[in-house]
Amino acid sequence: MAASPDNPAPTTPRRKPGRHRGEGQWAVGHFTPLNGNEQFKKDDDGLNVRTRIETIYSKRGFASIDPNDLRGRMRWWGLYTQRRQGIDGGKTAILEPEELDDEYFMLRVRIDGGRLTTEQLRVIGEISQEFARGTADLTDRQNIQYHWIRIEDVPEIWNRLEAVGLSTTEACGDTPRVILGSPVAGIAADEIIDGSPAIDEIQRRYIGNPAFSNLPRKFKSAVSGSPQLDVAHEINDIAFVGVHHPEHGPGFDLWVGGGLSTNPKLGVRLGAWVPLDEVPDAYEGVISIFRDYGYRRLRTRARLKFLVADWGAEKFRQVLEDEYLKRKLVDGPAPELPKEVWRDHLGVHRQKDGRFYIGFAPRVGRVDGATLSKIAELAETHGSGRLRTTAEQKLIVLDVEEGRVASLVTGLEALGLKVDASPFRRGTMACTGIEFCKLAIVETKARGASLIDELERRLPEFDEPITININGCPNSCARIQVADIGLKGQLVLDGDGNQVEGFQVHLGGALGLEAGFGRKVRGLKVTSAELPDYVERVLGRFQAERAEGERFAT
Ligand code: SF4
Repeated sequence: MAASPDNPAPTTPRRKPGRHRGEGQWAVGHFTPLNGNEQFKKDDDGLNVRTRIETIYSKRGFASIDPNDLRGRMRWWGLYTQRRQGIDGGKTAILEPEELDDEYFMLRVRIDGGRLTTEQLRVIGEISQEFARGTADLTDRQNIQYHWIRIEDVPEIWNRLEAVGLSTTEACGDTPRVILGSPVAGIAADEIIDGSPAIDEIQRRYIGNPAFSNLPRKFKSAVSGSPQLDVAHEINDIAFVGVHHPEHGPGFDLWVGGGLSTNPKLGVRLGAWVPLDEVPDAYEGVISIFRDYGYRRLRTRARLKFLVADWGAEKFRQVLEDEYLKRKLVDGPAPELPKEVWRDHLGVHRQKDGRFYIGFAPRVGRVDGATLSKIAELAETHGSGRLRTTAEQKLIVLDVEEGRVASLVTGLEALGLKVDASPFRRGTMACTGIEFCKLAIVETKARGASLIDELERRLPEFDEPITININGCPNSCARIQVADIGLKGQLVLDGDGNQVEGFQVHLGGALGLEAGFGRKVRGLKVTSAELPDYVERVLGRFQAERAEGERFAT
């Protein structure tokens, strides 16, 4: 029977109410909703909104949508209302939600493991052109997002996506979100283990499953057997990272409790080695702990990272083993430091079967439907019809014979997609920002694209790997705290004392085994207009003064 306040999961332990009762944890018997989100989730499973969209809302239009569906349950199917056009960032915090809502939606397509076929990409491109005014953004969680979606068109979009094996199920909401996977799973010559079968099994068992559709908040996951640590495993709620166990061979090191936003925390290792076929069970155990013990009183404390921080790795592993898996996990080693600094797989690389994969970069993840259709055509005529999205807002074409590499590179570059990209195009990411996001304070995508162009013009010799992540508000959809230069959107004062768009600067963050958060530079804020000058100054000084082998983050 599905877990819910009325029907606790069979595994849910019955405990006496303790000091955490006030956190709204189901596992200590506290099922009374303590906020509006918990209430609407108790009233009706978010998954059920699909029927209402298909039978009522898409036929009667935007005005017919129940507010609890509009700003709540529709997320369970990847739909968010987008920001009403023309509202400046200064009004974000003071307007009522209905004043910020446009009658159009963002729709997120989940691409588990980042795996796409050319047939799927072509359909994504066609939908973009037909229903989304050409929009299609690559996200840093390997998804693709549309804007300008009308509720009337949603059922037809679902029909077309599902006909080619894609979905928007639980792409947003308090659910198990897309499962990140190594973009070169199954093909990379240096791969430790291919996690794809585990991603497929997790998807089959747990996505769209009512037992896991009412979590305290979102649940982000990642599985990668690449030694390049290419899925930002440290900032996921659960991550399986490829390692060689000295006795048992290849498998995964289990991490839990990572997440950014306003209280960033890096994930912690449980010290456990998990073989490929046991990954789905471990996933079920961890997501069940989150569902049952996760804090539900305050949305700001409802991510798994807060429970992990309170319990610590040792207790978390013990509860996982004793109450959920009913067996002990095998102790295992930590991942090794990756050899490559870049983990985006850009450029031309030989696969283990002798063919090549080619990674390429748009600017800050921005593509469009027409371009996606052309990429699909190129991938079909040059490869075997397989592509991957990356966790850095990039794309990869797989399975290219050596004699076809040059032609594909030429074709991609003709579309404005760089295979041999500058460090700035390679390392700059931007979230959605004020163009469409209701929480945004500043513009990000166009700002990021023009920053790349400016830096390429001003610093043509700069050859150091660098990450510049641009967020439109204090949330961290573009991972500002783990970038070399993290830019948090806010209103700042310009030289004349006027309030204008700008950024709080964080310097020196990183992912990988040297992971850490950037330091907020006290009082350092730049206006959006000053941004190219500021970044040029910082990077120019670093380039002039760096010691041999010194990285920007060190
Ligand atoms: Fe929106 Fe803020 Fe996330 Fe950017 S970081 S997409 S502005 S919520």
